[in-house]
Amino acid sequence: MAYIITDTCTKDELCVEACPTDCIHPKKDEEPFEAATQLYVDPEGCIDCGACVPVCPTNSVFIVDEVPEDKQEFIAKNAAYYGK
Ligand code: SF4
Ligand code: SF4
Repeated sequence: MAYIITDTCTKDELCVEACPTDCIHPKKDEEPFEAATQLYVDPEGCIDCGACVPVCPTNSVFIVDEVPEDKQEFIAKNAAYYGK
């Protein structure tokens, strides 16, 4: 299981600051940040702590089982960012 970020993400990094396992990327100091349209959760690094959900001002983060019907494609997109 993992958490999933969807396309309403504004890249403000509030979830990055809250994440205890540093599994949300790209970060501002990483090269792909500029071009990225959103941030992504590494499904293998995520420990399902949920800390990223309440800090997100745009409600862009969901646990995989609760990703809305029209956002299902982002499950694969988060994993694909990490080549998974
Ligand atoms: S807190 Fe929400 S809007 Fe901000 S970077 Fe994370 S997912 Fe995107
Ligand atoms: S659920 Fe926890 S470990 Fe997973 S991305 Fe969110 S803050 Fe990081």
